[in-house]
Amino acid sequence: MDTVKYLLSEQQIPTAWYNIQADLPAPLPPVLHPGTGKPISPPDLTPLFPPALIEQEVSLERWIEIPEEVRDIYRQWRPTPLYRARRLEKALDTPAKIYYKYEGVSPAGSHKPNTAVAQAYYNKQAGVKRLTTETGAGQWGSSLAFAGALFGLEVLVYMVKVSYNQKPYRRALMETYGARVVASPSEETHAGRAILAEYPDSTGSLGIAISEAVEVAAQDEETKYALGSVLNHVLLHQTVIGQEALAQLEMAGDYPDIIVGCTGGGSNFAGIAFPFLGAKLRGDRDVEIIAVEPAACPTLTRGRYAYDFGDTAHLTPLVKMHTLGSTFVPEGVHAGGLRYHGMGPLVSHVVELGLAEPRAEYQLGCFAAGVTFAKAEGILPAPEANHAVKGAIDEALKCKESGEGKVILFNLCGHGHFDMQAYIDYQAGMLKDTECSSEEVAMALAGLPSV
Ligand SMILES: *Cc1c(COP(=O)(O)O)cnc(C)c1O
Repeated sequence: MDTVKYLLSEQQIPTAWYNIQADLPAPLPPVLHPGTGKPISPPDLTPLFPPALIEQEVSLERWIEIPEEVRDIYRQWRPTPLYRARRLEKALDTPAKIYYKYEGVSPAGSHKPNTAVAQAYYNKQAGVKRLTTETGAGQWGSSLAFAGALFGLEVLVYMVKVSYNQKPYRRALMETYGARVVASPSEETHAGRAILAEYPDSTGSLGIAISEAVEVAAQDEETKYALGSVLNHVLLHQTVIGQEALAQLEMAGDYPDIIVGCTGGGSNFAGIAFPFLGAKLRGDRDVEIIAVEPAACPTLTRGRYAYDFGDTAHLTPLVKMHTLGSTFVPEGVHAGGLRYHGMGPLVSHVVELGLAEPRAEYQLGCFAAGVTFAKAEGILPAPEANHAVKGAIDEALKCKESGEGKVILFNLCGHGHFDMQAYIDYQAGMLKDTECSSEEVAMALAGLPSV
């Protein structure tokens, strides 16, 4: 047989999110107040987030029930399919079995609506009228705009200026869903004006856009802020991916030896990996977990595990994570979703505990892997997802050398239909491999706050 697809019924959509904090061998370091340097308490976060999400952020409960209204919306695209990549296996001539979970079937084309819908739901419940957020290439912005439209919430998106100008299609999608999209840095906020005063030609960064979105939310009672990755509650919402994959692999009669995900802020990686890692931590089967990041923004492999701000203007609390420093601006690689200076604290923590292996890959190799995958399986991966494809293919090729028939599972976190310029540039030979210099990293790290 050629294509094998494992489908679950709607009744098998998970009923609870999995919280890895319940099973960690060591607790997560506390989040610190930027002013006092002392651990923050949940009320410190109320200007930005609704109570239910703050509770989830600090919860140690293993299972957190998914509201029926959220599951109802999930039903539009969940459970997502799990495929056995038989044609890719054949193309690679590998004895490995390769499975991929495909999150590109959501309305926004990626895993991000899994958390956008949940966040919009809890904000609506709390009486919030408007959400602010940042977006790079536009995947998160379009997911939140979609979720906002479902719940009748206004959505204001600060979009990194270079993407605002170069990626009009995602912007058009956000506006179609009813969001207002502003190029960041903008004249609308203190943070934006301060950057523009110093660097009038700034093309923006995620860190700057976060500062703008946070500033606006903090000043208005009816406005809250939504983040598309990094935070514990965001990673939590994504665990529907791994839970479904567990059930689907059971249908297939397999269990992964290796799980691969790409990491920007860590949410899709955690989504697929944490349910399996939790099983391992509770004494079930062992599994090797690989996090693939771009060499141009090597947070896990070259960053420091330290307390840092989440944004450029230093409005956010201090979290302990792998970071390149909040002033770090990576080269303009096409995997826009992987260009954040920091990493989800939970992902940093499991890497620090030796429970996952980080790996950095150059973009040319990732695009080559994505093209190999597209030719075999027909799905064109998002540039971010190509990093996971690359990691999975490399593991399959190792199996070819060793003759081992390992089971490899990776997360195909989104399709690349809005990223065709990246593929045009790749095919035209216009993409370069960029690595940030040690001086650049050292300079950005020198600015880390001392706590
Ligand atoms: C946003 C995004 C990412 C990076 O974010 P994570 O939180 O690390 O998952 C990766 N892939 C796609 C398709 C995205 O939209």
